[in-house]
Amino acid sequence: MIQKETKFVILTGAGISAESGIRTFRDSNGLWENHRIEEVATPEGWKANPQLVWNFYQQRRKQLLEVEPNQGHEALVQLEDYFDNFLLVTQNVDDLHERAGSKNLIHMHGELAKLRCEACHHVEYMMDNKHLGEAFLTCLHCEGRLRPHIVWFNEMPMRMAEIEKALSECEVFVAIGTSGHVYPAANFLHIAKRHGAHTIGINLDPPENVYFFDEFFQGKAGEILPHFVQKWIQE
Ligand code: NAD
Ligand code: ZN
Repeated sequence: MIQKETKFVILTGAGISAESGIRTFRDSNGLWENHRIEEVATPEGWKANPQLVWNFYQQRRKQLLEVEPNQGHEALVQLEDYFDNFLLVTQNVDDLHERAGSKNLIHMHGELAKLRCEACHHVEYMMDNKHLGEAFLTCLHCEGRLRPHIVWFNEMPMRMAEIEKALSECEVFVAIGTSGHVYPAANFLHIAKRHGAHTIGINLDPPENVYFFDEFFQGKAGEILPHFVQKWIQE
């Protein structure tokens, strides 16, 4: 039985932003927008060819200005507004959840809209046109080079202690639009389940970990989620 006090943790992945026009990771044979993951999403890739990596993320950052949140993002805002205990954890680096109105939100893999100093680690929101070109930008504090504020493969995801605490306390865990290939996020289902949560998956294709969900619904997040949210709020 779902009640107003029910503790929710929601995990989203690239699939929830697909209907807004942002391509998912595994759309084209494991390539991300035609680039190999090692090339554009690892510290080694950045070291080997920073200009290529910089240009890649500048393109992703510019794309944010052309896309809008969809009904899936909006349904999660309704859920947060209604329930007292709600945490949204996203693997996405786009800003569509916050633009839709989500507040209790953790970007575990970082944010395209922010840049971070390689020297002093200062993080700055930088999305003006003057920040979206191909020239590297420098830190406002120490003039160090700025890098994307993104968690690359082999780097530590952000705010893991908070996420694990919420997972161990939640009563309902829902994973939406995530392939179940990327760890540690793919393991959240198991942590929540081990602590007694009811687990629900919503995805266009059956994810890698599909058999471990208590319930799985196959389809588009923007079509399925609004129905769920209505149902839960009415209960
Ligand atoms: P993924 O690309 O590995 O998997 C996406 C999943 O979403 C697939 O299983 C697919 O079947 C499903 N999907 C596609 N369209 C959907 C829809 N309309 N509704 C519901 N499900 C749909 O994505 P992932 O598991 O999030 O892992 C990819 C990694 O790549 C993440 O760590 C993320 O940081 C990064 N990434 C982010 C973005 C973004 O911010 N929008 C986009 C691409 C990649
Ligand atoms: Zn600095």
